[in-house]
Amino acid sequence: MSFIARRLELFDSSDFRDAIKKQSSLKNPVDLSIGVPEELTPEHIKLAGIRAIQQDKTTYSPANGIPELRQALAYKLITENHIPCTPESVTIVPGLTTGQLLVYLAVLDPDDEVIVFDPYYPPYPHLASMVGARVVYVSTLPTFQPDLAALEAAITDKTKLIVINSPNNPSGAVYPKHTLEAIAALAEKNDILLISDEIYEHFVYDDTHFSVGSIYPNTVTMNGFSKEYAMTGWRLGYITGPQEIIDAINELQQYVVMSSSSIAQHAAVAALKHKPKHLVDKYKAKRNLVQSRLTKLGYKLAGAQGAYYAFLKAPHNLTDVEFVNKATDYGLILVAGRAFSQLHGFIRISYGTDIETLRRGLDIIERITKDLEN
Ligand code: PLP
Repeated sequence: MSFIARRLELFDSSDFRDAIKKQSSLKNPVDLSIGVPEELTPEHIKLAGIRAIQQDKTTYSPANGIPELRQALAYKLITENHIPCTPESVTIVPGLTTGQLLVYLAVLDPDDEVIVFDPYYPPYPHLASMVGARVVYVSTLPTFQPDLAALEAAITDKTKLIVINSPNNPSGAVYPKHTLEAIAALAEKNDILLISDEIYEHFVYDDTHFSVGSIYPNTVTMNGFSKEYAMTGWRLGYITGPQEIIDAINELQQYVVMSSSSIAQHAAVAALKHKPKHLVDKYKAKRNLVQSRLTKLGYKLAGAQGAYYAFLKAPHNLTDVEFVNKATDYGLILVAGRAFSQLHGFIRISYGTDIETLRRGLDIIERITKDLEN
């Protein structure tokens, strides 16, 4: 008998387990699969972490985080995102992914419905199912922009939450302000809470980022240090929203995480004090390269206005796993789109990597595409 709980079936990756095994056997692959920025944590942030250790700031922090970090974040959220908040309505979490689970645990009862736009960051639906809620998918194809009529049609009297992620992983779509205003209006009309995951807010290439929490108070805004500050391994994120939800999350934090890493929190204070120059032009150049090379090959590139991802339909009606396996034969690692979607025909390309690796990866995609045509 297996001791493993049935909820683990939600994370079933048997569809592409063989593909992943095949990828792991590659020697010196070109990797366009990982969602990590190419930069390393800036020196002054690392030093602040080292200093925190040397000064013995290594014990538990308050469950909601150290006051100086919450103060700095409240200032940032008010001045940059125009989200009304106070240091008390900001809570620090050990990464957004854990933050997502904490928000769900705080607000979802079994049978509540959660609307997730497809394609999605995988934890959104899986963690919702894990806590017993029902996930309702709303496709954003073909533009990767929310279809407001489809969204309205998906709302029922059980809808508790709509999850928004702009700029989006995996499509790179950036939702314009008017779309977010329309979603907020629908949410208000139907008394629905919004979750807005803004972890890629600084990776926007054609438009400007808009925080829906600035116009709709029943929004839980989530953000973190992983991407902009190249701190994925430090595990630090933050959440702001209605005070009763933040209080509930803080209560949960005492049981689930105790506190986020105090060392990472002190490093994050330094990150906010001396913000590293954000390299948006560098990422835009990589986006432009992906766009022009793939468009020339006949791929339709909707999305790709932000973050560092492109989500493409595999050519010649190949499934995502077939295309990913073919890419592996050529020494290239990609992610099968079914990890991010109910559909099985897409692949995700990450251009978080350096431009040389990206060029080599695009060369391989060109070779595969031409070979498939012959
Ligand atoms: N949200 C989105 C949309 C992401 O793409 C990622 C990581 O790829 C995360 C959250 C993870 O954030 P964290 O490192 O804070 O858990």
